[in-house]
Amino acid sequence: MGVNNGASPLVRQAGELIEQIPGGIKLVDAVELLVAWGRANSVWPLVYATSCCAIEMMSTIAARHDLARFGYEVMRASVRQADMIILAGTISEKMAKNLVTLYEQMPAPKYIIAMGSCAISGGPFYYDSYSVIKGGDRLVPVDVYIPGCPPRPEALLQGVMQLQEKIKKEGRRNPWRVGSTLQVPFENLFAKAQEEWAAQEKQRDEELREAREQFQRENPKSTASKPTRQKKETFPTPTRKKQIAKGISNWTLLQTIQEKFPSVEVYGHPSISPKAAAELGSEYILDLVVPPEQYRAFAEYVKNEASLGLDLLLQLTCVDWQEYFDVVVQLLSSRDGHKLFFRSRVAKNAENGDGEIETISDLYRGAEWHEREVYDLFGVQFRNHPDLRRIFLENDFPGYPLRKDYDDPTRVVKRPY
Ligand code: SF4
Repeated sequence: MGVNNGASPLVRQAGELIEQIPGGIKLVDAVELLVAWGRANSVWPLVYATSCCAIEMMSTIAARHDLARFGYEVMRASVRQADMIILAGTISEKMAKNLVTLYEQMPAPKYIIAMGSCAISGGPFYYDSYSVIKGGDRLVPVDVYIPGCPPRPEALLQGVMQLQEKIKKEGRRNPWRVGSTLQVPFENLFAKAQEEWAAQEKQRDEELREAREQFQRENPKSTASKPTRQKKETFPTPTRKKQIAKGISNWTLLQTIQEKFPSVEVYGHPSISPKAAAELGSEYILDLVVPPEQYRAFAEYVKNEASLGLDLLLQLTCVDWQEYFDVVVQLLSSRDGHKLFFRSRVAKNAENGDGEIETISDLYRGAEWHEREVYDLFGVQFRNHPDLRRIFLENDFPGYPLRKDYDDPTRVVKRPY
């Protein structure tokens, strides 16, 4: 596109001059109509998509729905060549600044389509999220809103046509102007709605009271009919194919480990014997409780002990039990296919609620980012980690959002603890 509609002084002045000539206004109008038509049919969207709605957007571009019919086919990877953003998906706080920068870097006139509930209002994350923007129009001016979760491709096509209508109305007399963003302070609309519903219920109850009393006077023997419960249908239990156990058995695994670390126990089954652990079934993945002072030595042993060969870290995560944390590690033997989970209790610092444990990122390279994630969201410090800093959230984010004691002032539904 690139024509700054009606805003270019040259175009404006030329239009004003030609308008003076008898019949000139018709010529100006015709040219304007043509330009607007051309602009409306050659909008180039920036490549911007974040979550599920993006899949619908991609499918709109593909052959079946063929967004190209509207001249929108050229998704640009550079803001210099784009004049529209389809906000397809969730907008996180961390992304907000970059989105605004991209919008500001686009040449005007430029447009925004908010596709789906997330882009409109935060969607399902409106109620309980510390990281999602409650609507794209708090950051950039939105021209067209497409409701849905996700909206179907047809809905996006409808939105695109709406934008075309809007662009076609632009001209010298109605030039494109930069829109405004919503400057709304946070408001707990959910609590407000709940209060309103309760008031309505009360009012309805009051209104019906007299009729109810009259009915009872006229029918003293009447009792409220009991609702009949629908009988649940029963279905045969499907037979599941038994999984073939891979690698070494839980029996051997536990026996080998307990010879080296006698204090290690099975989570939820303290003092269970290796034989009994084997009886928990081949689908049961051994989950061990390791004393925190042996956490690192344990990880080193299970990785380097040739008969165990647990060389691949699947996951390192954390559970906040309020009184303490559990740092949970999930390992896999890439050679034999067996898995092992283990966890260590990390005491909470009485002052700030943080915890501390040794890093295992030098043993398992994948742990480096997982430990940063646990630090970022729970505030657990990993001693000797090479680069312990936030990974998802902004550096100045206040608190650790996955901790039970975290209180988010913008959370609409309060957690039950
Ligand atoms: S609106 Fe629904 S489908 Fe779209 S990104 Fe949000 S959660 Fe996903």
